[in-house]
Amino acid sequence: MANEVQTRSGSCPTHGTVDATRTLPGPSFPFVVYAVRRLIATRRPYRCPTCGAAVTTI
Ligand SMILES: [Zn+2]
Repeated sequence: MANEVQTRSGSCPTHGTVDATRTLPGPSFPFVVYAVRRLIATRRPYRCPTCGAAVTTI
C-alpha cells in the first residue's frame, strides 16, 4: 500500500523556510494496526527534506 506524504511549510533551524514533509502509513490490515500507526504518525513533527530536523510549523 502506498504511504501518504503530507507537505507543509515550516521553519528549519538550519535552512529557514522549507517545505517540510512527513509520511503517514497507507491503509493496511488489520485496520486497528493501521489506525494506531497512523495516529502515532500524525503526532510526529514535520521534517526538513534536506537535514531531517524537526521543523516548526505554523
Ligand atoms: Zn534543514
